Amino acid sequence: MKAIFLGPPGAGKGTQAAILAKKLRLAHLATGDMLRSAVKEGTELGRKADGLMRAGKLVPDELVIEMLLARLAAKDCERGVVLDGFPRNVAQAEALEKAGFVPDVVLNFSVDDEVLIERIAGRLVCSQCAATFHRKFRPPNRPGVCDQCGGETLYTRKDDTEEAVRVRLEVFHKEEDRLVEFYRHRKLLREFDADQAPEVVTQHAERLLKEVMS
Ligand code: AMP
Repeated sequence: MKAIFLGPPGAGKGTQAAILAKKLRLAHLATGDMLRSAVKEGTELGRKADGLMRAGKLVPDELVIEMLLARLAAKDCERGVVLDGFPRNVAQAEALEKAGFVPDVVLNFSVDDEVLIERIAGRLVCSQCAATFHRKFRPPNRPGVCDQCGGETLYTRKDDTEEAVRVRLEVFHKEEDRLVEFYRHRKLLREFDADQAPEVVTQHAERLLKEVMS
């Protein structure tokens, strides 16, 4: 199973990709998480990506494509993968296709911008396992502590400021139509309303994935 989760920042792609990849025993590849690790480790890629990410802009295609294709070659991707945050534009989608990666399905998470801004504004991320929480909608059981791994390191992403979020949404919408069209044309696109309770979205997305897997 090769699935791509498309959608704006804050649509719940990451949360759902983590849940469903675990359930269906697929690898969860989130380019945002991979880039944040590179920034933390201070690698050359991380140094190049840091400022762009803080500003809410995209990291250059060639860097992200190289990073993602190298990760896709790892053993744990053999059973199947969920791509979360990649591709972000048609050039990245074409690079994937050229590398022989043709998805079985592309799930398009759609949510209105105003809802996204509210969701992102309260988002908390675990710096150890990348699980996400929300101050209001999904608070951790113990303040500041990750429910998943017990780490005491929940933080607010540097690009979750209102200013960066607006840039990220603008960048997303600029590429969205062409990217959606790219997969619709290939009859791979499944759209659904992601402005629902997380459990409802999980059920819906799982049903769509299983339909394709069977
Ligand atoms: P995300 O965690 O998916 O919201 O990504 C956070 C940031 O990482 C984005 O705003 C971009 O700066 C960068 N990023 C993640 N994935 C990509 C990608 N496929 N192409 C370019 N930049 C990316």
